[in-house]
Amino acid sequence: MKKAYINAKIWRSGAEAFLVEDGRFALIGDKDTILEAAGDGEVIDLNGAFVTPGFVDSHMHLAYLGYYLTTVQLADCMSAEEIVEAVKARTADVLPGQWIEGMGYNESAFTKGPKEITKADLDAVSTEIPIVLTRHCGHISCVNSKVLELCGIDETTYIEGGEIDFRRGLLKENARKPLTDVMGSASAAEYEQYILAGQKAVNAFGITASGSDDFLIRSENYKLPLDVFSKLAYQGRLSVRVNEQCEFRTPEDLAEFLDEGYTTGVGNEYFSIGPLKIIADGSLGGRTAKMSEPYADDPSTTGTMAVDEDKMDIMVGLANRYNMPAITHAIGDGALDQVLKVYRKYVLPGNPLRYGIVHCQIMRKDQTQEVIDQQLCCYFQSLFLDSDASILKERVKPELAETSYPFRTLFEHTNASNGSDAPVEIPDVLKGIYHAVTRKSIMTDDEMNQAECLTVDQALESYTEKGAVAFGMEDEIGKIAEGYLADFAVIDTDITVCPAEDILKARVIRTVVGGEEVYSA
Ligand SMILES: [Zn+2]
Repeated sequence: MKKAYINAKIWRSGAEAFLVEDGRFALIGDKDTILEAAGDGEVIDLNGAFVTPGFVDSHMHLAYLGYYLTTVQLADCMSAEEIVEAVKARTADVLPGQWIEGMGYNESAFTKGPKEITKADLDAVSTEIPIVLTRHCGHISCVNSKVLELCGIDETTYIEGGEIDFRRGLLKENARKPLTDVMGSASAAEYEQYILAGQKAVNAFGITASGSDDFLIRSENYKLPLDVFSKLAYQGRLSVRVNEQCEFRTPEDLAEFLDEGYTTGVGNEYFSIGPLKIIADGSLGGRTAKMSEPYADDPSTTGTMAVDEDKMDIMVGLANRYNMPAITHAIGDGALDQVLKVYRKYVLPGNPLRYGIVHCQIMRKDQTQEVIDQQLCCYFQSLFLDSDASILKERVKPELAETSYPFRTLFEHTNASNGSDAPVEIPDVLKGIYHAVTRKSIMTDDEMNQAECLTVDQALESYTEKGAVAFGMEDEIGKIAEGYLADFAVIDTDITVCPAEDILKARVIRTVVGGEEVYSA
């Protein structure tokens, strides 16, 4: 079936129309040529709307996003009191044995009362129902007494790579693992629901492909997520192309996965195996990002390393033997030092396997240079600037703040792609573009080093072509070009010519994946 799209304003193209056939862009040109080529196919008039390649969110957690949507949403709560109210409202629906889960709280943004949420607040809601609230960074959970009891955690418990604040009921990094063990894994049916809810949410923002890290989301290991994704892809039920960023709890799990024949590139257009994903440290907001020097606003800590050098070396080395590159979550410069050191052993000149760094936040100048020298793929999140612009100033000294989040430098010298880390941030691409070009916070009016602003064109590229390169799919997606998969987003405003503020008002009105409409406003 041929579909002719006419009266379009195509990004980076003088053409006004295109023909889609068999899920691909068959022809791009002027209206008459396209109408003629379409024959008696369908004609869709876009009325002058702006068309971009489908957006590629290069790092997120698709299943976790869907899961997040089923929990109590706390992102808008501006005090512990509001959180307590939101959680209380859920207690009526809880079945015996069920937990209440909340997600997305951010105590540093509280505008009323103390800037914290603790066990005592949650115990006031219930000491019978287990309650677990996860901070928006995803690295810290606040739990009530019931959860501590179920997890067997007391004042004396020690968990390697984690931190337990028993009095406040805060579990950080690896100390959150008992939660997953006690809550148990999702069933295949639940997991499928998460993915379907997640993809529906991202399609509404024009996203047609995502680098998604899901293996340890409500799952013991890779097997359940892999099965569910593979089944959905086979059944043609995925409306977003997923390049899986594969995370493993142990080197043994990774070895088994590789032994079963999985490695980067295995899969099809809808679901493919991406790189090995490693988490090196925590978050800036939670002061768990690993710094080379103590935090400026808390000299008692330098943050937490989530993986030691030996374990990282074993995992990276093992994957490397199967031509599977690693991408590593590194937010603090201390974590990045370790990552760069391990990578030096494995990354070949020019980085042909496409090793990468996820987040690229607190960086010294020498590190930015080494990332460029190793030609590492950078996976940054301009959406983080909204909440990070103010906390950056508090957490690190001015000279380090100045060289941090060096997005333009990375963009101009490496393959730097953009993403949301959803559900850490709502995967709103147009908002991400706004932050990339302004480096201003909407929440606080703070701004970051303006020399690192991207142009709108660069920001669009970071959300399209660069993501495609990160996934090794640059010959299939990320461009509106003949022969490419017909993935595109239709936007009501040409964001390349409007004032930056108007990018925030622009809306995605249609999303198409492989020639099929998956969202329309
Ligand atoms: Zn992530």
